[in-house]
Amino acid sequence: MSKEFDEIIDSLKAYIDGERISGEEEICFPPMEKKVGSVTGKDLAVLKKEVSVCQECSLAKTRTNVVFGEGNPNAELMFVGEAPGADEDRLGEPFVGRAGQLLTKIIESIGLKREDVYIANILKCRPPGNRNPLPGEIAACSPYLVKQIDEIKPRVICALGKFAAQTLLSSEATIGKLRGKFHDYLGVKLMPTYHPAYLLRNSSGKKDVWEDMKAIAKELGIKVKKG
Ligand code: URA
Repeated sequence: MSKEFDEIIDSLKAYIDGERISGEEEICFPPMEKKVGSVTGKDLAVLKKEVSVCQECSLAKTRTNVVFGEGNPNAELMFVGEAPGADEDRLGEPFVGRAGQLLTKIIESIGLKREDVYIANILKCRPPGNRNPLPGEIAACSPYLVKQIDEIKPRVICALGKFAAQTLLSSEATIGKLRGKFHDYLGVKLMPTYHPAYLLRNSSGKKDVWEDMKAIAKELGIKVKKG
């Protein structure tokens, strides 16, 4: 009999014993969650529900939709951007505008699909006019990201741009200084790189992003074509 099967039987016995001790006459089993890897979609869904009604900062008044994040709840690679823009605010999904299309290409450049990774932002609501996030907004919103990372437990985080990198690393260094090497985020390898929106304005940064993505692929054991 497999070890997993033994563990399932042991946990069923413990559950039944618990119900008996608490005096339950009928033993009800909680509904089974679809579980792939270690995170049930439910864990993130509960958090998403909480975030969807967040009133922790004034962006709640101007947002159309909360942009919680999306992707594989068991992703080995997680991308963290800055904040939703107009398209993301309208659709409630991260990185769906022009910068998002470039991010999809960046992901695909190392042989992954968008659905393989998890994508989230520091801020879950759009700052009006796409202004920079304010320190108070980051402080109010980043605990949600910390919980997302804690649930997903990625092997590698790619921080897109200055705000994501500086927030997760509690650093004031420039993105130019931070990128290009792995840093430690609570035991997770974190690679800062340029934000796709920056690349749309400065295509010379693409070479550096490619180097950073190759380093991420190597860390994850993904073979990429030379380039
Ligand atoms: N820029 C970001 O940082 N995040 C998004 O979701 C979209 C654009």
